[in-house]
Amino acid sequence: MPKQTQIDADVVIVGAGLSGMIAARTVLAAGLTPVVLEADERVGGRILTEEVIPGVPVELGAQWIGDTHERMFRLAAELGVETYPQFDDGETSYDLVGSGVLRESEFHARFAEELAELERVLRRLDELATEVPVDAPWSAPEAAQWDSITAGAWYDAQGLSQVARTLLEICTVGILAVPTAEVSFLHLLFTIQTCGVTSELFAESEGGAQTTRFVGGTVEIPRRLAALIADRIMLKVPVQLIEHSADSVTVHCRGGLIARGRRVIVAISPTLAGRIMYDPPLPGMRDQLTQRVPNGSAMKAFFVYDEPFWRTDGFNGQLISDVGPARMSNDTCIPGDNHGVILMFLEGEQARSFGRLPEEDRRAALTAELVRHYGGKAAHPEFYVDGEWSDRQWTRGCYNANLGPHVWTAYGPALSAPIGVIHWASTDTATYWSAYMEGAVDAGERAAREVVVALTD
Ligand SMILES: Cc1cc2nc3c(=O)[nH]c(=O)nc-3n(C[C@H](O)[C@H](O)[C@H](O)COP(=O)(O)OP(=O)(O)OC[C@H]3O[C@@H](n4cnc5c(N)ncnc54)[C@H](O)[C@@H]3O)c2cc1C
Repeated sequence: MPKQTQIDADVVIVGAGLSGMIAARTVLAAGLTPVVLEADERVGGRILTEEVIPGVPVELGAQWIGDTHERMFRLAAELGVETYPQFDDGETSYDLVGSGVLRESEFHARFAEELAELERVLRRLDELATEVPVDAPWSAPEAAQWDSITAGAWYDAQGLSQVARTLLEICTVGILAVPTAEVSFLHLLFTIQTCGVTSELFAESEGGAQTTRFVGGTVEIPRRLAALIADRIMLKVPVQLIEHSADSVTVHCRGGLIARGRRVIVAISPTLAGRIMYDPPLPGMRDQLTQRVPNGSAMKAFFVYDEPFWRTDGFNGQLISDVGPARMSNDTCIPGDNHGVILMFLEGEQARSFGRLPEEDRRAALTAELVRHYGGKAAHPEFYVDGEWSDRQWTRGCYNANLGPHVWTAYGPALSAPIGVIHWASTDTATYWSAYMEGAVDAGERAAREVVVALTD
């Protein structure tokens, strides 16, 4: 969009992540004019693909979709972005609770009882999650009790063996990106319920959240979406102040741009939404909420080799470990390209501690971990890159906002309920696959529907 100092639209949208752009497209389809104000110099927010070597895009942000991510499959098809299945042949490598490095078959044979314990707890979590209404978790029959303890405290009370408890922690931190001691048990159940069942969340193979990738990289989704509404998006215009009345908004950006509209959709994480000024000020409930919705901490680190040598040894590239900086890894090779690409996840405590180290120290610690699991060939990557999200001014952590004890029950309704002419989107406000791209689309569509109803009825 050309540089302007004032712009008029029906709907002003803050943030050109997936949620904001979906909201823009939806209001446009309803015959209303949107304008999207994006702080960064690019669209896509928590989606960030980097082509480190020609033909080898790596995903520093969102990477996968799963079988029940219907909106994302539909969107990809509509935008002409092809998908391919995540590689999943071979064995996972384990090193847990002092077991030393074990292949999956050895690990399963040695810890069959512990894995059965884990399975029982997961089934119990699934049962309890069904009692949590996704659009009002605070109204679950046992909401007060579940919101008064952390997920970690509930796990500790299950009398699990150390192996089962450690695996449960790793799986959960793998989705929340914070230690379970920091998250309300009600929030965990809500997260499970927005996704269906724990097997959807934790599994990588059939039915999980990580079955499918995008040809060319996830960035193709926001890139092509932005092309459809390019004349309605402005980059490098951080929103600082939203003035609102009964029937209008005036949105002020750094640099002097002013956007006027009849409604505004704030499509950024609640923590960042709380850093915008509002005039008149928002109700205390909303501000108290945004003081209590921290984003998690996660980093992805990619090692690119001349070939995927672990496959030859019968490994699938996944590791699960409580030793070293990464708790999990994935084979993220690109079909049709010969390079071997391994992704290591640093989440929660690991992102906080190793994320602060100089890159070379972090890389050395991760390399040592790969060598322990996959042998000496892992010591010589052609390329290394990692991505930190807490330092990014317009994200400030990931994967999403997690609610600690007492927040859902005390402040939950303030998360997504519109305040006058102000509406809230972003995946953090979704009721289906909250925290995921699917949730970003769900929330963007919901906020746009609210606005369309208000402006066209
Ligand atoms: C490392 C990582 C891995 C992930 N892996 C997956 C995965 O495999 N699968 C999956 O489904 N999801 C994954 N996710 C989550 C997924 O990326 C998000 O759910 C989704 O992209 C969120 O979209 P959004 O539009 O809600 O928010 P965002 O992407 O955060 O978009 C918000 C936008 O608002 C902008 N903004 C912020 N403040 C302002 C301001 N004041 N003024 C104007 N603009 C502002 C930001 O720059 C950003 O562009 C991952 C995320 C990360 C970071």
